[in-house]
Amino acid sequence: MTTARPLLLAACVLAASAPAAAAQQYPLLDSTLTNRISAEISGDAAYDHIRILSAYHRPQGSDTLFVAASYVQRMARAFGLDSVHLIMQESKRATWNPGTSDLWIVDDHGAPLERVASSIDNRIELADRSRPADVTAELVDVGAGSDAELDAANVAGKIVLVRGSPGDLGRVMAAAVQRRGAAGVIWYPDPYTPSRGFFSFGDQPTMVPWLTLSTQPIDGKLPTFAFVISLRGGVALHNRAAASKAPLRLHAIVKSELGSTVHSKPWMPMVEGVIRGTSPDAAQDVVLTGHMQEEQHSANDDASGCASMLEIARALTKLIDEGFLPRPRRTIRFWFTTENDSERRYFADHPEILKRLWVDINQDMVGADQSVDVMRTQNVNRVPFARFHFLNDVMESVIDYMVAANSSNITQYRNGYGLYPKPHLSHNGSMDRYNAQPVWYQGDSDHEGFVDAPAGIPAVGFGNEPDRFIHSNLDDLQFIDRTQLGRNAVSAALIAYTIASADSSDFAALAAETVGRGEARIGRSVGVAMQLLAAWPDKTAAYYAAADQVRYAIEREHRAIASLGGISSSKAAAVAQMQGTLDEREKSALHELELAYQREAHTTHAPPARKLSATEMELAKMRPAIVGGPREFLFHRDDVEPDSGVNEYLSSQLLATIDGHRTGLDLYHIAAAEIREAGTQYYGEITPENVLHLLESAQRSKLFRIDPVR
Ligand SMILES: [Zn+2]
Repeated sequence: MTTARPLLLAACVLAASAPAAAAQQYPLLDSTLTNRISAEISGDAAYDHIRILSAYHRPQGSDTLFVAASYVQRMARAFGLDSVHLIMQESKRATWNPGTSDLWIVDDHGAPLERVASSIDNRIELADRSRPADVTAELVDVGAGSDAELDAANVAGKIVLVRGSPGDLGRVMAAAVQRRGAAGVIWYPDPYTPSRGFFSFGDQPTMVPWLTLSTQPIDGKLPTFAFVISLRGGVALHNRAAASKAPLRLHAIVKSELGSTVHSKPWMPMVEGVIRGTSPDAAQDVVLTGHMQEEQHSANDDASGCASMLEIARALTKLIDEGFLPRPRRTIRFWFTTENDSERRYFADHPEILKRLWVDINQDMVGADQSVDVMRTQNVNRVPFARFHFLNDVMESVIDYMVAANSSNITQYRNGYGLYPKPHLSHNGSMDRYNAQPVWYQGDSDHEGFVDAPAGIPAVGFGNEPDRFIHSNLDDLQFIDRTQLGRNAVSAALIAYTIASADSSDFAALAAETVGRGEARIGRSVGVAMQLLAAWPDKTAAYYAAADQVRYAIEREHRAIASLGGISSSKAAAVAQMQGTLDEREKSALHELELAYQREAHTTHAPPARKLSATEMELAKMRPAIVGGPREFLFHRDDVEPDSGVNEYLSSQLLATIDGHRTGLDLYHIAAAEIREAGTQYYGEITPENVLHLLESAQRSKLFRIDPVR
């Protein structure tokens, strides 16, 4: 392989090809503006916000979370966002202040010999909601803390050392302290229990997981305190206790408090700031979200998302103020939240806001050093079926562009690019590629409250998986890569700015992405549909499932095309025309299926009528509708019991698909189609009975009602 020749050729190759290759150019924004946004955003600058935020333990409603939120507010103001304010929202969760804590091995006179755990080292070495204590007591090793082990150890008045899974801490607090009178607990991980997925604590012997105690009394006895130490620390203490002739004596000092000095009631912070659009009446605000609360460190989850938002705020505001970036038509809102809870509370307190919000772009875990685990991927979840929107295609277009811009191959090299065609690198970051991809919808972060009923706002979300460090002392600065942090910030900024600034002159380009990507999606769905006809022995059942698949795909694309109408009212005729083309596409796809059916069933007739089971017939007679508003959902959404047989994300999408028109059977068909698109490994399986259970529970919650189909 020669290396010199391509570089010599580079100049003339570039000169000869004036329009750059499509993937190299982001088609939805002027290339100069794209380059400016990428050049202004700094992963190094974003990293510095993580340095600050990660120092504070940030459990819900704690004074230290308030300090972190105050920092976010101060920086948002300093960077020139408008209307910046810190909102103290009412919370349903108890507040707790960690204070300070120390655990020492002491001599017979109580003088300190050796430190076992301390808030000086690490705030999460004390379990959240531990209560104040100043206790000197004997240590007793209770192994795995079974009832027999606890009885044999005679734990009353002693501090117990127990190994277990994270879920065992609550059980041991109840069994040893609340039922048998122990003074407190020291927990360390059992090496045989997994920490995250296939990662075990044995792989990560210095990991201290972030654990929280219950506040509930048992027979009038409250929980006390628990120290949480690593596997290595636990084994060392176990060995030391075993080798000691006399029981070890420990001194535990906990200066925590349930409650908050910041606010008399349980509260949670949310910081809001905006870049004001030129058309305040547009009522199509673009929201960026990331969450502030979590444990100390929590650098990736989600100090990175907040840091990225602060850097986006700084960069866009600066470019706009200096006249290098046109002010967008629509307002961009920055919501730094208490994860998932802030949005639901905000919607309940200000239901009128729902009419103003167009889309949400969430960033949760956007700083991961992907070289730490080569399998780590920066996933960006698509807009789910029920909320489908051209936001999805803007996101996919940005990710395609940013990945191509930061990936290497030999043909680019021969076009004169030394490494990446349009690199976004940070000074103190890696030069690794950008390993990002769109994935099917997943929840469990701030975009969830937007997508779910009753808000129903389209959203995409950045996340990083797998993450072996999440919710532990190891989610810290050493595993953050400034380069990936910067790229994710650029990606989120491009998505937000493209949508916020879109007007009639951008319609053609946006429509091109939505139609082109839509046709690729439909093509894939038709393939999935025809695979059913190939694979299922019952060709009639296969035909109807295949037709569901196509209708599902077409309905999704109708939704995306309809959303293009939001760009400008002058484009209504264009949208109607595109919808008409989509109807034609549906007819031709269904015709293809009918022909495939006839080939597979060896017949020239149309398929016989669809056979429905008793449950399917019952579902066909039900028409669920949403009854509750944001306030009712805030207090009662947990009353809807998820069917344990159904994947949670699928089940939340199923509820999101309820619109007062679709029947229960439609919902089942949509969920089944969704599973076939993404795979059972992604969304599991579903039966008509699962759907029936979920709908019955939804009705009992009074958030939904079920009308009979007449
Ligand atoms: Zn989080």
